Amino acid sequence: MKTPLVSEPSRGRTGTPIAQILSVVAAVALVLSCSHASVTPVTRTELTLGTTVTISVYQKINEKVLDRAFARVNEIDKTMNRVGDGSEIAKVNAQAGTGPVVVTPDVYDVVRTGIHFGELTDGAFDITVGPLVALWGIGTDDAHLPTQAEIAKVLPLVDYRLVTLNDADHSIYLQKKGMQIDLGGIAKGYAADEAARILSEAGVKSAILDFGGNILVIGSKPDGDPWRVGIQTPDKPRGNYLGIVRTSNRTIVTSGPYERYFVVDGVRYHHIFDPKIGYPTQNHLISVTIESDDSMLADAMSTSAFVLGLKKGHDFVEGYKGMDAIFVTDSGSVYFTSGLDGVFTLDDPSYHRESFPADSGSTESTSPSS
Ligand code: AMP
Ligand code: MG
Repeated sequence: MKTPLVSEPSRGRTGTPIAQILSVVAAVALVLSCSHASVTPVTRTELTLGTTVTISVYQKINEKVLDRAFARVNEIDKTMNRVGDGSEIAKVNAQAGTGPVVVTPDVYDVVRTGIHFGELTDGAFDITVGPLVALWGIGTDDAHLPTQAEIAKVLPLVDYRLVTLNDADHSIYLQKKGMQIDLGGIAKGYAADEAARILSEAGVKSAILDFGGNILVIGSKPDGDPWRVGIQTPDKPRGNYLGIVRTSNRTIVTSGPYERYFVVDGVRYHHIFDPKIGYPTQNHLISVTIESDDSMLADAMSTSAFVLGLKKGHDFVEGYKGMDAIFVTDSGSVYFTSGLDGVFTLDDPSYHRESFPADSGSTESTSPSS
């Protein structure tokens, strides 16, 4: 018997300032066997980072540990928002084209990692995607299909190469007026890492952190078995699992277009953009899941691989140490890296496993063989 345990991410606005900024994709949910039902977790849920964050600790702890973990998460929410009072990123954005802004080391590090992924992906991952996020308004009441002229106007502002980082004073300068950093593709992962660090330092050995579908598990289940993390079947009601990842001390992060989108003339416009064209990506992928031991990197990686498409995304994951991935296409094909053999089981009969395309170098889109 399996018991759906966590993951009830928000849809649309949550009322928190970052709600319009960070992804709310309900990517994964946890399932646990009933074998350790006797251990009652200490659980807390808060709306933050534009989603529902739940931390469940499977041992006796002083609840002040949870206070500290959530305080840190809320601090990240506040300082890394694209807009809003108290946000360091908003200050950097406001000074675009004017001058550099000194930020705290953690904000600087997340931005630097984001820029690094921009370099690694040749701009498929681009944290200066802010003007596109603002223009399209996906997930907000203002969501709409922009005109080609509107898109053409903001596209020159989306370019990670126009961010000047100064390691000496931790300052960030956006070279063109109107540029905006948006950390929605990476900040939730960083926040999960930080919360896990605080819990681990306090002696927590068994816990689940669910950041709106970004899952991080500390240790194993109380009975010593691996955690069972269910991967949400894209486009099926929440709680339908494509399959299960059995893992310990890992993070499982999914990017997908299936919760935050609008449809015009049968075309789905979702929240993950191809920064080169200014439109949501259209490459037949419907979800990419990354398994790793670093949630910030997994977060950046899942968004990157989603934009890169099956072929290039797979190459990127394979070339990056310590990452495994599951790619799902709109034709029901599931591809996963060899590191997940024996770790991930594909359970939904309407999907079938495929081998990754041979290294033809031909396409960045999926070309399922069935
Ligand atoms: P995720 O759910 O982690 O894949 O992140 C999606 C979020 O990242 C979006 O809601 C935007 O805030 C931001 N984003 C969208 N497209 C990109 C992109 N190409 N590169 C980096 N961040 C992006
Ligand atoms: Mg991401």
